[in-house]
Amino acid sequence: MIVVKFGGTSVAGAGPITAAAEIVRGRLAREPIVVVSALGGATNALLGLAAQAAEGQLIAALSAVAQLRERHRREGEALLAGEAAWPAVRAELDAHFDELARLAEALHTLGFTTPRALDAIAAKGELCSALLCTHAFRRLGLAAELVDARDVMITDDAFTKAVPQPDEIAESARARLLPLLRDGRVPVMAGFVGGTRQRVTTTLGRGGSDYSASLVGAALQADAIEIWTDVDGMLTADPRVVPEARLIPAIRFDEAAELASFGAKVLHPSTIAPAVRKGIPVFVFNSRHPQGTGTRIAFDAPVRAVTALAGKAGVTIVKVRTGRMLFALGFARRVFEVFERHRTAVDVVATSEVSISVTIDDATRLDAIVSDLRELGDVAVERQRGIVSLVGTGLADDAGAMATALGALEGLRVHMLSLSATGINLTILVDGDQVTPALRRLHGAFFGTAVPA
Ligand code: ASP
Ligand code: MG
Repeated sequence: MIVVKFGGTSVAGAGPITAAAEIVRGRLAREPIVVVSALGGATNALLGLAAQAAEGQLIAALSAVAQLRERHRREGEALLAGEAAWPAVRAELDAHFDELARLAEALHTLGFTTPRALDAIAAKGELCSALLCTHAFRRLGLAAELVDARDVMITDDAFTKAVPQPDEIAESARARLLPLLRDGRVPVMAGFVGGTRQRVTTTLGRGGSDYSASLVGAALQADAIEIWTDVDGMLTADPRVVPEARLIPAIRFDEAAELASFGAKVLHPSTIAPAVRKGIPVFVFNSRHPQGTGTRIAFDAPVRAVTALAGKAGVTIVKVRTGRMLFALGFARRVFEVFERHRTAVDVVATSEVSISVTIDDATRLDAIVSDLRELGDVAVERQRGIVSLVGTGLADDAGAMATALGALEGLRVHMLSLSATGINLTILVDGDQVTPALRRLHGAFFGTAVPA
């Protein structure tokens, strides 16, 4: 059995939903369980209208409800017109949107939102999408069966970021999903949505559909989890920066996790952790090019010195030097406490006998941070720096790779350098405007398609 998850762009309307049905059809022999996101953009629209309602803009909120209703009707019509089931499906969609309008009015009366109300609203996107997909799949000849995610994805009541309860999910997934598979049916359920034991609607947090897929897959020990999205998979670099970036056929989970912290937005690895922990491979595929080979994320991908590159500009370096000659005991702690006190996350760290350098992304509290750090020593701030990061499991063990990396950057100023404790991430601080040339040169050096930077 496999879990097949379609993201928002893969179910954005009648065309993509029809394409999704074909993808599922090609996998019937593997007993797919389908998990769907909301129609692309629907979650943003839902949360936006909730905020508008609470801020007093009821008309705007209700017109957003009307637009969403219209969109779901239109796509439903395109998929299901003439079907015996369509009037009932349309009535069910209408019931969701009638309730949505009432929720908007309620928030308008209250003048504020609550996490529980936001979840009731946000969940509508996936609930409607799952309803539409189920009937569309049926019309296209698949034995699809809608499963209410709130009966399977049991969570606590931490609304808007509810915590899944794996034991209960395993029990309910076995009870609700396995009999359908045994009957040769294709269960379809909403991603992102959960329910408390009292069946109050919750959500798992933004982007939570991947998490849903991973939890269901882990609960049933699936053979694979497929995440269908609008990119071919994970690439060796951001193709907007390095045009010759290539698809990574297989990547280790910890490598994918390192890349995610640099905004490689394909999926957030923590969301697939439940599956990967159970040894279930997760694939990323492009629903627009279903014949592609995608990226496989697993614990056991081949070890390479460098699997991928990432980079970002707009980084600030803060350097603190102790007044005393030697690194005083407790100095590092006091330095980090300053950042913690100002709720500013520290990214990269390098130390010497008398100094600590750290990088931060968010410089909004920088003035206050610097003034506190001045009590500990001399402080220097370097703005407009950039990070390039090399991620690869074999990096630390491959002396040649280090030399290649530094050689590729010859002539560029290096402001800081750090090899992660896991040895799989080498981070190099360069001038902010040198991130692109640095990435292109590194890519050329490691992946063999050098272009003049
Ligand atoms: N629709 C939700 C979101 O946009 C969940 C998801 O698509 O994964 O955050
Ligand atoms: Mg998504």
